Amino acid sequence: SSIPKIVILGAGYGGVLTSLRLQKELNYNEADVTLVNKHDYHYITTHLHMPAAGTDNPENARVNISKLIDEFKIDFVKSTVVQIRPQDRKVILEDGTLSYDYLIIGLGGEPETFGIPGLGEHAMNIRSINSVRLIREHIEYQFARFKREPHRTDYLTFIVGGAGFTGIEFIGELADRIPELCKQFDVDTSLVKIINIEAAPTALPGFDPELVEYAMDVLQKKGVTFRIGTAIKECTPDGVVVGEGEEIKSQTVIWTGGVRGNRLIEEAGFETMRGRVKVDEFLRAPGHENVYILGDNSLVFNPEGRPYPPTAQMAMQQGVNCAHNLVASIRNQPLKTYTYVSKGTVASLGKGEAIGVAFGKKYKGRFAAWLKKAIDLRYLFIIGGIPLVLRKGKFL
Ligand code: FAD
Ligand code: NAD
Repeated sequence: SSIPKIVILGAGYGGVLTSLRLQKELNYNEADVTLVNKHDYHYITTHLHMPAAGTDNPENARVNISKLIDEFKIDFVKSTVVQIRPQDRKVILEDGTLSYDYLIIGLGGEPETFGIPGLGEHAMNIRSINSVRLIREHIEYQFARFKREPHRTDYLTFIVGGAGFTGIEFIGELADRIPELCKQFDVDTSLVKIINIEAAPTALPGFDPELVEYAMDVLQKKGVTFRIGTAIKECTPDGVVVGEGEEIKSQTVIWTGGVRGNRLIEEAGFETMRGRVKVDEFLRAPGHENVYILGDNSLVFNPEGRPYPPTAQMAMQQGVNCAHNLVASIRNQPLKTYTYVSKGTVASLGKGEAIGVAFGKKYKGRFAAWLKKAIDLRYLFIIGGIPLVLRKGKFL
């Protein structure tokens, strides 16, 4: 038929917002829209530090895609993308092939290991429902093992590599969880160590120094040890090697040292930097007028020429802009330029504590924690309205 085919890869922040906008803006039979995702649920990545530490149920961090999209307007395909073939305008799935006129790539990032030996094999990552279930179970298992081999105090050392926002939010939760686990397994809390290792001269490099100091203070009081200005050089089955060859023994290494783009994009032949595509002002891959790239796979530069950090906030805005441009393309109308508008950054430090910058002001403590909750609820509202807020929202 002559109806344009739109294929959206990935139901993350970018893919979901694009789908929601398209189903609202497109007229009947104006386009065929297909959304492809590995799982039949969308996961709320910004929530994953909690189920990873075991302070919340993973169910609260995922939503069935059928509850979000209107399946009369968008075809949902649960499958894994294995190859993107822009030259043929086709996407190869593990169990089929899709052809497209317009392609939207929102497959999310992958952990960046910078080629550090052993990290890929021995460290865990906070990136999906399945990966955080593994971390949670693994941590509990270390307590159970310790009870059988009480000389192995390394079972109770938990290493978090990287003090970016992911690492900081996770250790905040982990520090809250440890006293519970100690009680449950009758373990002396003084035997447990949480070590956050950061290569840069400060935690949260680039963030407001006063808030960074506040965060470190809160976390240290909860028992976290920071090793700042210390790079992880290797990860082994027995722990990590840092700095000039010092070994830290641990059975649990969580790597939060950074994100890169999805390897499928490089493999498709797009020009990338750390796996990401420097998109044009309309969010398209250079040289491919019909391919849009969103979220952790896109690189957007600020007016000073530095790339913005990839965030859910940006992926959502890009989804809205992308949907607008798809509709405009189909209707032969002019495309809209994408400009990132920062609403601020708020990061949790565990129960009742957070730091943030929003509306040009700094926040810390209870109010910041409340702000973080409000942002989470707002997201649930945007994608699923009041019913989703009531089902998945946490109000306290
Ligand atoms: P994602 O949300 O990662 O979604 C990608 C989707 O593609 C997933 O559904 C995945 O299953 C699917 N997929 C992947 N590969 C395939 C395949 N081969 N085939 C089919 N489907 C596939 N950002 C903020 O702005 N604020 C925050 O508070 C915040 N907190 C965070 C907390 C944590 C613990 C983490 C890890 C990140 C946080 N971020 C935050 C960053 C934010 O989560 C990411 O920038 C955002 O998720 C990127 O969205 P995306 O649409 O690019 O991809
Ligand atoms: P990141 O790249 O922001 O931080 C990684 C950290 O690891 C850096 O501080 C880096 O110096 C450190 N590191 C790198 N190599 C190292 C090594 N060998 N040894 C020790 N430390 C090393 O990654 P992230 O924290 O996963 O964040 C990814 C994106 O998601 C960012 O854009 C971030 O802003 C966003 N995010 C936002 C929030 C929030 O707003 N609340 C929460 C989580 C993530």
